[in-house]
Amino acid sequence: MALKSDKKSAAGWRFDNSYARLPEALHSQVGPIPVARPGLAVLNERLAGDLGLDAGVLRESGGEIFAGNRIPEGSEPLAEAYAGHQFGNFTNLGDGRAVLLGEQITPGGGRFDIQLKGSGPTPYSRRGDGRAALGPMLREYIMSEAMHALGIPTTRSLAVATTGEQIVREELLPGAVLTRVAASHIRVGTFEYAHALGDRAALEALARYTLARHDPASVDAENPALALFAAVLERQAGLVAQWVCVGFVHGVMNTDNMALSGETIDYGPCAFIDAYDPDAVFSSIDRAGRYAYGQQPNIAHWNLARLAEALLPLIDDDQDRAVALAGEALGRFPESFRRHYLSGLRAKLGLLTEEEDDFALAREFLDGLKEAKADFTNSFVALTRAAETGRSDGLPWSGDRTALSSWQAKWKARLARQQRSRDEVAVVMRRANPFVIPRNHRVEEALAAAVAGDFAVMQRLLDILADPFTGTPASAPYQEAPPAGSAAYRTFCGT
Ligand code: AMP
Ligand code: MG
Repeated sequence: MALKSDKKSAAGWRFDNSYARLPEALHSQVGPIPVARPGLAVLNERLAGDLGLDAGVLRESGGEIFAGNRIPEGSEPLAEAYAGHQFGNFTNLGDGRAVLLGEQITPGGGRFDIQLKGSGPTPYSRRGDGRAALGPMLREYIMSEAMHALGIPTTRSLAVATTGEQIVREELLPGAVLTRVAASHIRVGTFEYAHALGDRAALEALARYTLARHDPASVDAENPALALFAAVLERQAGLVAQWVCVGFVHGVMNTDNMALSGETIDYGPCAFIDAYDPDAVFSSIDRAGRYAYGQQPNIAHWNLARLAEALLPLIDDDQDRAVALAGEALGRFPESFRRHYLSGLRAKLGLLTEEEDDFALAREFLDGLKEAKADFTNSFVALTRAAETGRSDGLPWSGDRTALSSWQAKWKARLARQQRSRDEVAVVMRRANPFVIPRNHRVEEALAAAVAGDFAVMQRLLDILADPFTGTPASAPYQEAPPAGSAAYRTFCGT
């Protein structure tokens, strides 16, 4: 994509705002609304560096910029228009409490959206106040950075600024603004919006833009819209498989919360499972379990069907043919997901070769975990240790010991057949089985301290989560499952 501006500021801002050049129907020019007393709660210095930004300069002036009181040079702020199916129902949405400052061009030539979330009302705010509370913004910061460290594609968090204002929810809460960094904010819902406009030129421009940004090699494909769809499908299949493999529950997989870049986006009510349970739901508003842990592949498939519908006018002028082509492409999702999932499970079990029954072997282990209500993360860590040492003690499978030992015998025989050294197996397993995940009780503990003004607990947690694949004495307390008898964990949409 051509670079239009090459201005560089002292902090290193170097914006090129290609989204602002898309048809006007797709966005609205609007800036952040200044806040009373900007402060900098947390700054991601490492990420700042990767983006070509000077963390020192940002620290000095960052509160002002990250709270939205000062617009960095070269920024052309806007709110993106989008729609979405929320719990199955179509609605027009848009950035109701966020503005895109622009796209930062990194020293390596990368392009990243810099978005302020919680920056005040926009034309898409409906009845909302456009603001966000400190707790949920810090929570997004922690969760997204943890996901990144786990090697899972995700939007990132550059900073959280405090506003010195209170916002009104069920109670008064301190306000905050999160600076979100993303490969783009183009969602399934962005295409649904363009499709619902009935403006073919806008839909076409959006598709061409998305391809240029995320799949440049397919810009000249024979059927670009179909190529875009196939690429998005493949990324989603891979992403959801990665979620499932670490026990992540997104919690609100509405079509407006699914990014075409393949990044995890929108950390409202997400959480990690402790005990393995496909029915696990944390979100207080997901009463029917639509977005339960084990439902996520089905929902991704459903969301992709909504994307396919939005793309139909571009796939073929003959709509019957378009439906047939889209249907055929969509039908590849289950197979694609299974391929990604199986490859993740093989790594988790230390299987370096492929055998017909690998999926069944993994299933049997997972079923055993479920029956025993065993901790998902720690069970795989124990399995890694078993592969490393050759000893089979320490597996926290408190259920049927006979079933476990019969499974272990099969697993050991399977490992023996692949004829790989213990070290080789352990390297793969260690990379697939994190020691630490952001345990719900640890995240809550950090947030409670931070909202009360003590950021040290969160900083310690962030340091541990930044290195999830190494078990150390320091990480040990963070590996523990929540104390027995803890109340079921509940999350709330971060509005
Ligand atoms: P989310 O649940 O965060 O995915 O948001 C869904 C939609 O509601 C998006 O269009 C948001 O911009 C909008 N929204 C959420 N919270 C607010 C708020 N406090 N003020 C205005 N719009 C909001
Ligand atoms: Mg959202």
